[in-house]
Amino acid sequence: MPYAYDDQNIFAKILRGEIPNKTVYESAHSLAFHDIQPQAPVHVLVIPKGPYVTYDHFAAEASDAEIADYSRAIAEVCRIVDVAPGNDGGGYRLISNAGEAGVQEVPHLHVHVLGGRVLGRMLKRFDD
Ligand code: AMP
Repeated sequence: MPYAYDDQNIFAKILRGEIPNKTVYESAHSLAFHDIQPQAPVHVLVIPKGPYVTYDHFAAEASDAEIADYSRAIAEVCRIVDVAPGNDGGGYRLISNAGEAGVQEVPHLHVHVLGGRVLGRMLKRFDD
């Protein structure tokens, strides 16, 4: 059962309204809110409202409507927080950590939208 979803994870609690969040954007199938420990001047998390653990889980089992909504929600967040490329200092990075090697802390799919500064190299080289 590779995609067992734990409905006690913190983002499930946010979706149920049990924990507050600083919402940036909400749509029929997606919610975006500020990360509680920002790693950059802009650090927003975008999550689907459905019970999906990782991106591969979502892509395999979500409906076309959920997938379209989520993809557009991420782009809408980039527009709202003004990191879409074009302005001086524009640009962003999307990260979705999955599983053990990805060091995923919260087992509900989320994309980190990072920006507001030059973000440096994507990763350290594995042999650094
Ligand atoms: P990941 O390591 O990709 O699973 O990232 C989980 C992210 O969730 C981290 O960046 C945390 O700072 C963030 N986070 C954890 N709890 C909350 C919360 N209650 N509200 C907003 N962000 C949170």
